[in-house]
Amino acid sequence: MTQSLSNPTVIKEILSRHGFTFSKKLGQNFLIDSTVCPRIAEAGNAREGYGIIEIGAGMGVLTVELSKRADKVVAIEVDHRLIEVLHETLADCHNVKVVEADVLKLDLNKLIENEFPGLKVAVCSNLPYYITSPILMKLFESRLPIESITALVQKEAGVRLCAPVGTREAGAVTVAASYYSEGKILFPVSRGCFMPSPNVDSCVVKFDMRKTLPEVKSEDFFFKMVRGMFTQRRKTTVNAICGSLGMDKAAVTEAMTEAGIALNSRPEQLKMDELIALSDALYR
Ligand code: SAM
Repeated sequence: MTQSLSNPTVIKEILSRHGFTFSKKLGQNFLIDSTVCPRIAEAGNAREGYGIIEIGAGMGVLTVELSKRADKVVAIEVDHRLIEVLHETLADCHNVKVVEADVLKLDLNKLIENEFPGLKVAVCSNLPYYITSPILMKLFESRLPIESITALVQKEAGVRLCAPVGTREAGAVTVAASYYSEGKILFPVSRGCFMPSPNVDSCVVKFDMRKTLPEVKSEDFFFKMVRGMFTQRRKTTVNAICGSLGMDKAAVTEAMTEAGIALNSRPEQLKMDELIALSDALYR
């Protein structure tokens, strides 16, 4: 049964037997292409010696592939209606634990400590698109002891996440991704690979977590500054910082000069080393 989980007829039969209807609000677009899940699992470090965290298990099509390859899988799913579906579809997957929870409210450090002793850990998921950024920010900022995050995301989000810092596409989440990891786009996934089919294309991205993080005087202040700046990204950096952090213009101008940054620059033009230099100069 688990082999045909990417077959639309089988999916429809199982879901209708459980009286399940898709929730747009929860970003429920399930994979129905039999080639995509094995590729994601393999790219996502699902192999011997690894424990995998999957966020948003749906009806378990990716979970099965992760389970075949990794030592253990913890599959997190918020939708109570899918839990009994998962118990059916994953009945033969004895190394999977299904956790009913909102991932944004879970203590993932504790989960890793309890569920994966002695294993390397990776996150591998087809993420719910409506909360891609909050989930990734949480994964990055929680400083989890993980090797990598591999995620199926909306194509535009993938481009933004993996853009070089200092380019037009980059945003606050790009800076966080680049601070904590080395990210790259692995391969595209077309809208036809999902049921229901979303009206956007997707791609798989992978973030290999850095062992050593860039040096910055205060990480809290750095990210506060970055978040603030990017909410006003079309303004000059000086005005964006004054506006978002309520700082004095003379002090910001002085810090910009100290950091060697042009006074007419815009937030999206600043490279990682310039953002760090500016944060260090502003942080007293
Ligand atoms: N992994 C399945 C697949 O590939 O077919 C489903 C992926 S679907 C894009 C995203 C899943 O995330 C849905 O099953 C949805 O219910 C779940 N989800 C949405 N918000 C969540 C949250 N805050 N915490 C955990 N799961 C969530």
